[in-house]
Amino acid sequence: MFDLKQAIAQAHFVTFMTGAGVSTASGIPDYRSKGGLYSAMTRPEYALSADNLRDHHQAFHDWVVANMFYPSAQPNAIHAAMARITNAKGAIVTQNVDGLHQAAGAKHVTEFHGNLYDIRCLTCGRRVPYQDYLESDVHTVDGGRLRPHIVLYGEPIDPQVSAAAIRAVQAADLIVVVGTSFQVYPFAGLILFAQPNALLLAVNREPIALPAGAHLVVGDATAVFATL
Ligand SMILES: [Zn+2]
Repeated sequence: MFDLKQAIAQAHFVTFMTGAGVSTASGIPDYRSKGGLYSAMTRPEYALSADNLRDHHQAFHDWVVANMFYPSAQPNAIHAAMARITNAKGAIVTQNVDGLHQAAGAKHVTEFHGNLYDIRCLTCGRRVPYQDYLESDVHTVDGGRLRPHIVLYGEPIDPQVSAAAIRAVQAADLIVVVGTSFQVYPFAGLILFAQPNALLLAVNREPIALPAGAHLVVGDATAVFATL
């Protein structure tokens, strides 16, 4: 098996690109993996769309509260190892919106799809505690609509966030993709910005398609990172 520990020890700058599989050991299920259980209106691709927020804000709110919020979730061994490694020499670019990389102490994190617990009012722009949003998506101060600061289907990535993610990928001589099928664009496209000689590897539960030359470690990421 590929020696991830040795590769990390030898690298000058390690960038981890992470997805839902990193947080499942913290008790946060991957909403995409529930597959066929959803009806057309509650498919994640529609439920989490800008169209749904605009046209059915109550249904949007109900879905997000029911499926995405796990406020008592704690970082796991993967988050801890990544924080230790990247605080010394690296960065994390994550698709996750749960804030667990930062909760583990990681200082160099780009949240490519935003943060679920960052709730803002569309009328006044103020931030509101997420606990208020769990009760209602109406801002009690002015009646404005509240929403989480996450990237919905149909919405662009913030250009500053995109630029930060690209910088993190460009800086790396070792890129480790963890817990994502790497099929969601534009996240997966970030790999195009890697240095030509950068070492690319992925740790995932199931085999996934990767660019030529990449190494794949098929296995449980929690077990792999517990050894680092
Ligand atoms: Zn407001």
